[in-house]
Amino acid sequence: MNHILIVEDELKLARLQADYLQNAGFDTDCLNDGLDVLPWLKSHPTDLVLLDVMLPGCDGLEICRNLRRFSTVPIIMVTARIEEIDRLLGLELGADDYICKPFSPREMVARVKAVLRRQQAQTPANPIRTLALDPHSFRVLAEGHEVELTTVEFQLLQALHQQPGRIFSRSKLMDLIYQDQRIVSDRTIDSHIKKLRKKLADLLPDQELIHSVYGAGYRYDPQDKALD
Ligand code: CA
Repeated sequence: MNHILIVEDELKLARLQADYLQNAGFDTDCLNDGLDVLPWLKSHPTDLVLLDVMLPGCDGLEICRNLRRFSTVPIIMVTARIEEIDRLLGLELGADDYICKPFSPREMVARVKAVLRRQQAQTPANPIRTLALDPHSFRVLAEGHEVELTTVEFQLLQALHQQPGRIFSRSKLMDLIYQDQRIVSDRTIDSHIKKLRKKLADLLPDQELIHSVYGAGYRYDPQDKALD
């Protein structure tokens, strides 16, 4: 049984999270003071942490940073404002996903399952087919086939592919690609990603390679479509 640690100082919300996760078959524990989190994790095997950002004692950002020095346990950050997510992504805390309050408990359970599934898919027991990127020709190869990308598509894929699992916000991707500070809208990124996904789907039809993270951005993460 997967063990989830809920770190949340709003006790009603913590109870709601625990109820839904237990109903979904998870074992849960709750902490409400930030200072208790690291000592707890050092002595209790935990499969995933749901970590509120605003906490008494020590905030979620600090906890996440310190935790990453000794642990790769999946972390889902919970923040009160959607605008905050972009800033959090920029801080590169090493969190695996972000949820914005108020969230639906069902959505929360779905995210927890997705993060756990992703982590399990990355273990060597389930090898994933990898892409080879050729920066000279902007070609991508997989399984003996290849597709040619536009410059922007190639740069997007390269950025995402270099750090699998990391969530890139649209603004971060724009910074990486349009170094001349050209004014482009979020939709420009979305439309390039859409075309890129289509080309990659031609290459590896059974794999979902680029994932949208609601309210946050995109992540490269090879997954069998059957798992979604
Ligand atoms: Ca809080």
